[in-house]
Amino acid sequence: MTEKLYYIDSHLMQFTARVRSCTPCKQGYAVVLDKTAFYPEGGGQPGDQGTLGGVPVLDTQEQDGEIVHLCQAPVEAGDLVEGIVDRRRRLHLMQQHSGEHILSGFVHQMTGYDNVGFHMGAACVTIDFNGILTAEQLDELEEQTNRYILENHPVQVLLPKQEELAKLPYRSKKELTGQVRIVEFPGADLCACCGVHVKMTGEIGMVKILSCQKFHEGVRLEILAGEAAFRYLSDCFVQNKAVSGLLSAKQTETAAAAERLCRELAEVKFRAARLEESVFAQKADRLADTGDVLLFEEGLSPDGVRRLTDAVFKTCGGRAAVFSKNETGFFYAIASHEDVRGFVKDMNNALQGRGGGKPNFCQGSVSAAKEQIEAFFK
Ligand SMILES: [Zn+2]
Repeated sequence: MTEKLYYIDSHLMQFTARVRSCTPCKQGYAVVLDKTAFYPEGGGQPGDQGTLGGVPVLDTQEQDGEIVHLCQAPVEAGDLVEGIVDRRRRLHLMQQHSGEHILSGFVHQMTGYDNVGFHMGAACVTIDFNGILTAEQLDELEEQTNRYILENHPVQVLLPKQEELAKLPYRSKKELTGQVRIVEFPGADLCACCGVHVKMTGEIGMVKILSCQKFHEGVRLEILAGEAAFRYLSDCFVQNKAVSGLLSAKQTETAAAAERLCRELAEVKFRAARLEESVFAQKADRLADTGDVLLFEEGLSPDGVRRLTDAVFKTCGGRAAVFSKNETGFFYAIASHEDVRGFVKDMNNALQGRGGGKPNFCQGSVSAAKEQIEAFFK
């Protein structure tokens, strides 16, 4: 069996070991050592990466009780090699994992809910609980977790005997046999776990709950810890700073300013639509009984084009066609007493257009100049 150096010291990132075997496999080469600081995937925590004798280690897995380093190139069996664990990645994973322990422990203390799912993704960590958490509870849990992190508690690993274990009120996802490894965050969490953790909770830095969605009978939280949480919040800060500048609002008052802006925009849109309606009605009156109409209007939305066409068609007595300029050509709508679809198809072909509709009403856009449209209608 390979000696598990990561259990002796979770911060050991450099070591020398002898290669016990190296065999080709699907991902490259499966290397087994006499001892290793590479943590194999388990308990929701991905396997370590790094180098062995300068050869990249792509992943570390436990296979049939052996710790297998999946290497990009072979190393010589019998050789002594230097192993270097990707420190930054491992610290990131330990921060996420340890942060999850504290939060899950406090959720359990507060509600009795169990952590029933845990996944470390590329973007964030998800934790599933088998009960509903309110916004107020989440605020309190986040504050409690971060206060605990700052208090810098030591993290302990216990290897209790069977009779001692029976007395411990520890969290566990499944029935365990053999020697059970208990991780203790004193006062926060006591949990059976085979993972690697920070030594002091201060190393976690912070935990941020990003979201809480209903999931099965409970909730799924998205969280981030450590440097990843700091980077995420920094990105949010940059965004908020820009919004604050645009809205001339204090950075702590951007939501209220954005809400005001949305309300004003809705009012302006409503007034613009009413003004358009009255302009359209006047135009329709002027064009009453003039027969076929071809209109070019400035700055109408596709919906405005449709409504003006409708209004004119009701009074003109013939076919109504309205065009309004856009970035590449014109939006159009055409209404007719006859089936106009064949005409629109020909027009789309001639004027690089697209669109269609019902027999008596079509709309779309064309990429053509005003003169070309007029020429086609002649
Ligand atoms: Zn753990």
